[in-house]
Amino acid sequence: MKFGTKILHGEGSIDKNTGALSTPIYQTSTYHQFDIENFGKYDYSRSANPTREVLENSIAELEGGKYGYAFSSGMAAISSVLSIFSAGDHIIVCGDVYGGTYRAVTQLFSRFNIEFTFVDASENLNIKNAIKENTKAIYLETPSNPLLKIIDLKASIKLAKECGAVVIVDNTFMSPYLQRPLELGADIVVHSATKFIGGHSDVIAGLAVTRDEAIGKRIYQIQNTFGAILGPQDCWLILRGLKTLKVRMKESQKNAEELASWLEDREEVEAVYYPGLDSHKGKDIHFSQAYGGGAVLSFKLKNLEKTTEFLNKVTNVAVAVSLGAVETIVSYPVKMSHASIPKEEREKLGVTDTLIRVSLGIEDIEDIIKSFEDALVK
Ligand SMILES: *Cc1c(COP(=O)(O)O)cnc(C)c1O
Repeated sequence: MKFGTKILHGEGSIDKNTGALSTPIYQTSTYHQFDIENFGKYDYSRSANPTREVLENSIAELEGGKYGYAFSSGMAAISSVLSIFSAGDHIIVCGDVYGGTYRAVTQLFSRFNIEFTFVDASENLNIKNAIKENTKAIYLETPSNPLLKIIDLKASIKLAKECGAVVIVDNTFMSPYLQRPLELGADIVVHSATKFIGGHSDVIAGLAVTRDEAIGKRIYQIQNTFGAILGPQDCWLILRGLKTLKVRMKESQKNAEELASWLEDREEVEAVYYPGLDSHKGKDIHFSQAYGGGAVLSFKLKNLEKTTEFLNKVTNVAVAVSLGAVETIVSYPVKMSHASIPKEEREKLGVTDTLIRVSLGIEDIEDIIKSFEDALVK
């Protein structure tokens, strides 16, 4: 079954009890036990909830994994996955990682004596050089945020296998429609389902998937112990968003391709970062591991004044934090997603105050281009 069919007719798409096409919202905390000696499958909703279970099974199926877990946010998913590691473990993290993940790693997990090394993972050699005896995981994001750098997943997975480390991939930017790291041999995929998977700017959620039973058990133990689960109403919203993932992603990607080429031809624009462009350094690697360039791009203007003017002037889009919605979202990384990274670190990564990120929605692209033009021209 192909992806577009699987999201509609996969496991759990029809409620087994009633035949309902829309998964019932089991808004319950606890469950009556009909036999005190043999408890039923459900006993308490932190441990398991039927609505959440449908979402968890669906994402596992769509990512090509076996075990899925739904959390109250992307950060809850990421923090819970990082919690399967212990003091003394070493984790290699890609340099331009999501700002919240950077904060979790540097300000929370390092306090528990988990060691982290940040590397520019777009050069595979940097990963190789960072491997130590106690390296237990390699944490990657490709395309990266906000410069859309590409990491060679297959080469990274090979390095990890050689040293017995697990590979964790934050697949938020691509969604399982465009990239499935588990199928390439990665061990864990995490998502901010707040973004493309939910798709409608109306819910905060996170997901984690693995195909390895032992890793799955450890993630489940953290999910149940730490308790950052996704509530049944929000699970339903994510399930509803998932149904249109393919059509939204396709349309948004088409818009991104058009805007990227248009921006590349503008003299006001200094650089455009989009893996679908021929000028993108990582294009070939990206297309060897993903099915499209995605719907997020970023670009740099000539100076801060122009950048501020553009952000204040641009219309028909949301100027906001976040991405992956039906509406186009224009973000300003230095004041938004990357505000928690010190200026010096940020500039080293290329996240300057002239950098603008765009997550394309499903509007008519002519209107978006027109409003970009108006905002660029004085
Ligand atoms: C938004 C985002 C997160 C964090 O997810 P939340 O749902 O906001 O907690 C993690 N990784 C990436 C790539 C993101 O874009």
